[in-house]
Amino acid sequence: MTLYLGTFLDTPDADQPAGVRLRAATDQALRVVDGVITERGPAADLRRRHTGDEVVDLREGLVLPGLVDTHVHFPQVRAIGALGMPLLEWLDRRALPEEERLASVDYARQVATEFVGGLVGAGTTTALVFGSHFASAVDVLFEEVDRVGLRVTSGLVVSDRSLPESLLSTPERTYDESVALAGRWHGRGRTRYAVTPRFSYSASDDLLDACASVRKDVPGTWFTSHVNENQAEIIEVARLFADSEHYVDTYDRHGLVGPSTVLAHNVHPTDCELALLAARGASVAHCPTSNSALGSGLFPLREHVEHGVRVALGSDVGAGTGFSLIKEALQAYFMQQLLGPGGLPLASPDLLFLATRAGALALGLGSEVGDLSVGRQFDAVWVRPRAGDPLEVGLCHALDAEDALARTFALGTPDHVAGVWVGGDRVKG
Ligand SMILES: [Zn+2]
Repeated sequence: MTLYLGTFLDTPDADQPAGVRLRAATDQALRVVDGVITERGPAADLRRRHTGDEVVDLREGLVLPGLVDTHVHFPQVRAIGALGMPLLEWLDRRALPEEERLASVDYARQVATEFVGGLVGAGTTTALVFGSHFASAVDVLFEEVDRVGLRVTSGLVVSDRSLPESLLSTPERTYDESVALAGRWHGRGRTRYAVTPRFSYSASDDLLDACASVRKDVPGTWFTSHVNENQAEIIEVARLFADSEHYVDTYDRHGLVGPSTVLAHNVHPTDCELALLAARGASVAHCPTSNSALGSGLFPLREHVEHGVRVALGSDVGAGTGFSLIKEALQAYFMQQLLGPGGLPLASPDLLFLATRAGALALGLGSEVGDLSVGRQFDAVWVRPRAGDPLEVGLCHALDAEDALARTFALGTPDHVAGVWVGGDRVKG
């Protein structure tokens, strides 16, 4: 039994990133038993009643729910920072050559260590991860995730056209390798399996059918892919799927769009696509630094919210510029500001929601993680800047909790993450 003392900020009753209410608890304690929060209340009160508990003092700084990254690529850690190219050129010149190197298990093992270290270091406790095109590398990723104890949903990335030869599969191999990987990892510890065609640009109808068969034969798996990221990509998908109504339909007509679906980007959706995503209960992973770095466009958040489409955040490493969901949230705020009257103004509680509970909801984990209520797993990030750090100065002079949170989004980096817990296990600090 452990008592954590601190200032706890979360957004337990929000379901869309607009007008979110911040719950701020100062001088509080959370009691954690077997990884689950069993009580919350004034610290003095809990300490009096539970004198035998271990006490962990987090009162300097702030404690947030563990951050949730709904779109991040395992094989692209070493490709972060290749600026100055649009999507398809960036894939050809930087991302795909790196992805080919994961054919080597030894190489994949090094990258897996760097990748999981990057997530933990940034305070990410739950992630939906684009795996590798190589089944052996996906095993290596799951092994590392399992060793460290993160909550990760991931799977084999599959394609059967338009990519370098070594990254291509067939519908038969896709089915066999995916089912075998899911058999090893789906529902084991904190890991789950996600069926992951790279995007319709590199997938035939037969391949997408094989993906649907995996989902049917392995109940409870997730589905993730890319959609509507870049104009050149969208034009090519429309040409390849001339009989599809739109990009979302290329997945939907195979039964792949539903409540367990997370599609990344959706920077250029039509109203029809937004209505369909809402009707299916699917989620969109908004990846602001990636959209900025590749010049993909300004995400229409207001349109998603107005249509009732669930939106969460993704770092999209390596097109994104790092693992920090704090930075992604700030960039989301910037982009809505730049949209002017068409944008959706975001306050700090909206940003916290996007970086935590929104991701938990998108991944079907809203009753387990995403906030710090009684009954939730203790997945938490301790933000504690050192004395004299500009964030420490900002927190000292904050007007209230909402202001302190805004300063955290403005100034916070992985260097300020002093501790990370998943299910009560300390994984950093
Ligand atoms: Zn991506």
